[in-house]
Amino acid sequence: MESVEGLELSPRKVEYLKYILERGCPVRTNDVAREFGVDPSTVTKALAELAGAGYVSHEPYHGVVLSGQGRAYAQFLIKRHRILALAFTQHGLSEDQACTEVSRFESLVSKDAIDRMCHAMGHPNRSGCGVITHDDGCLGHVTD
Ligand SMILES: [Zn+2]
Ligand SMILES: [Zn+2]
Repeated sequence: MESVEGLELSPRKVEYLKYILERGCPVRTNDVAREFGVDPSTVTKALAELAGAGYVSHEPYHGVVLSGQGRAYAQFLIKRHRILALAFTQHGLSEDQACTEVSRFESLVSKDAIDRMCHAMGHPNRSGCGVITHDDGCLGHVTD
């Protein structure tokens, strides 16, 4: 995770990775297609690209699972959403509003920015969307 910028994936792939992490089991193309209301052929292509980049691997007959790298990255994606949502709720938005607004732009915010925000916010434990986790990025490497 050291060299992760946080801007590697498209908004759609961000949602797929978060979904796969939250499912916690091998996920099939049709599961993803149904969840997001997209064509299975689109999902197959996206999952092949995620596999090619090392985020997921295919388990024959079961679907795709996260790699170690993919799991760490998906945890960051979920944290990014929750840190941003929490910041919005601290500035007047309801939890539902914050969740919706953040979903529109979260894929454009870097990991460095999230690490600095988490540090400045005192490493909060949860947002309206769920538990917030911390890693070396937010705990150790922010110096100013
Ligand atoms: Zn949310
Ligand atoms: Zn933190």
